[in-house]
Amino acid sequence: MTDGNPKAWDHTVDVLIIGSGAGAMTAGITAHDRGAKALLIEKSDRYGGSSAMSGGGLWIPNNHLMKQAEIADSPSDAWDYLSSVTDGAVSEERLRAYIDTAPEMLKYLSNETHLAMETLPEYADYYPRAPGSKPGGRALDPKNFDARKLGDDFLAMRDQNPQMLIMGRIFMTIFEARTMLTQGPGWIRLMLKLSLRYILDIPWRFRSKRDRNLAMGNALIGMLRLSMLDRGIPLWLETGAHELLVENGRVIGALVEQKGRTLCVRAEKGVILAAGGFEGNQEMRSKFLPSPTSAEWTCANPNNTGDAIQMGLALGASIDMMEEAWWGPVTVVPGEPHARMLVIEKSLPGGVMVNQNGERFVNEASTYTDVVNAMYANDKPESPCIPAYLVFDATYRSKYPCGPMLPGSNQPDWALPKAFRQGYLKKSDSLTGLAGQIGVDPAGLAGTVAKMNEYARSGKDPDFLRGETDFDRYYGDANVKPNPCLAPIEKPPFYAIEAFPGELGTKGGLKTDSRARVLREDGNEIPGLYAIGNCSASVMGPTYPGAGATLGPATTFGYIAARDAVPV
Ligand SMILES: Cc1cc2nc3c(=O)[nH]c(=O)nc-3n(C[C@H](O)[C@H](O)[C@H](O)COP(=O)(O)OP(=O)(O)OC[C@H]3O[C@@H](n4cnc5c(N)ncnc54)[C@H](O)[C@@H]3O)c2cc1C
Repeated sequence: MTDGNPKAWDHTVDVLIIGSGAGAMTAGITAHDRGAKALLIEKSDRYGGSSAMSGGGLWIPNNHLMKQAEIADSPSDAWDYLSSVTDGAVSEERLRAYIDTAPEMLKYLSNETHLAMETLPEYADYYPRAPGSKPGGRALDPKNFDARKLGDDFLAMRDQNPQMLIMGRIFMTIFEARTMLTQGPGWIRLMLKLSLRYILDIPWRFRSKRDRNLAMGNALIGMLRLSMLDRGIPLWLETGAHELLVENGRVIGALVEQKGRTLCVRAEKGVILAAGGFEGNQEMRSKFLPSPTSAEWTCANPNNTGDAIQMGLALGASIDMMEEAWWGPVTVVPGEPHARMLVIEKSLPGGVMVNQNGERFVNEASTYTDVVNAMYANDKPESPCIPAYLVFDATYRSKYPCGPMLPGSNQPDWALPKAFRQGYLKKSDSLTGLAGQIGVDPAGLAGTVAKMNEYARSGKDPDFLRGETDFDRYYGDANVKPNPCLAPIEKPPFYAIEAFPGELGTKGGLKTDSRARVLREDGNEIPGLYAIGNCSASVMGPTYPGAGATLGPATTFGYIAARDAVPV
């Protein structure tokens, strides 16, 4: 920590925002619109962070788009739901700040910026049995956004995680992804439409292989970035903060490293930390997350290395929930820089997740966070769960995509890359043979599959209740009866891929109050310092209430922090 005045400031702004994800951009826009001079800095040579790589969904209870779609919600339903699922882990003040401000933030961005979202009326809250839950509407999907509006600036946007793209290239919205991956009504026509839209976009193809019809996280970041460009809000790339500067106990700026030189940036009204979690930092993972853990298991931006948390700690900030992440089972694909989360695959009928005894340990169709919590909770020497295995049969393989593989009907096994055929995808004509390949107890696997086949016929899973809630069924195959999440695993060959306890980002970090101010151990705030997004301990506690429950808070607390720093 530097306590003193750097002799000369290289640059002075009102609000310095460290990071360039959706929360950082929201903070920058809000501060600017309140008359402040804002600056965003980004450590890497690409802006957008995990926000750009993501689904771009925002979970906003009681939002105005629900009202337009005539889906009822209220602050009291939102309170019932959030207070139930967070189960005392988060203060009432912070939860209320989220419930009260998130709809206002959304309305503000919808009215004043290029942000355009759509409600997902069937995307249920992740805990449908909790009081105040909704069968849909709180999760919002970014509309498509034309990258041409950004000009060359688009090329500096971080790429979408390939798991969110068709064939690693073509954009689809969250709604379209569900239709295609679960083979919902019209999926073939939709697939053709999106593929042709990409292929026939010939002038743009000369410019970039990237699809310009952005969706998901790239669309969200594109809309916010264009809104920054309209306002002339600067964003410095390749500029990483490494130390906060303090004067008389107040944070007044930061030392930043820009292409080999150190600059002193003064922030008259506040510094907003928005530098993501520590998912890319193996040392911090090993220290704080449950064991085992690996930076290879993250789907997120590898540049998120806990810098903001370290900078806060250096000033005596308090940290919380460091053992938590936005968990989900992931597959690590040879040759790919990021893991892929098995969001849909785990719920589709004809698959089952087993431990190394060949036994199930969870409702595979439950939230991704719950699947990983069960993985860690059940990982015992006598029943190892890490890795677990997603096992499926030829029918599943032929119908559905899985990890990087298209459905077998589009991409038969012989057309898979060699690395997939020789190691990544295990395959055998018998369950016993498959068990031998993955080192799983053959009798255990055979017993589990026999039970799953019985459950598929009855439509009831008495062990883990798979397919019983709206959320489970959201990623089931509606054509499969009686339970869209259960089908027999009976047609050889049989397949398996490994599943690891990965995440979309960590969610423990600097403790903040309802105004996003960073707190010390004694509960007092550090004047001038704010933290939002995954460098702050999440307002969602250890749970994942619905799709968009990480970006909803990042943008909302970005808005809150900027308003607090720049009162009018
Ligand atoms: C595949 C995938 C799908 C997802 N889908 C969704 C979804 O649909 N909805 C949802 O709510 N969440 C989703 N998430 C999670 C969500 O993307 C993240 O939780 C969220 O983006 C975190 O926002 P953030 O602002 O904390 O971090 P980021 O968006 O990662 O931004 C942090 C930025 O700070 C930069 N940085 C790091 N250190 C420094 C430093 N020292 N100086 C300057 N800059 C620094 C990083 O390079 C990065 O660009 C998804 C994530 C992934 C990977």
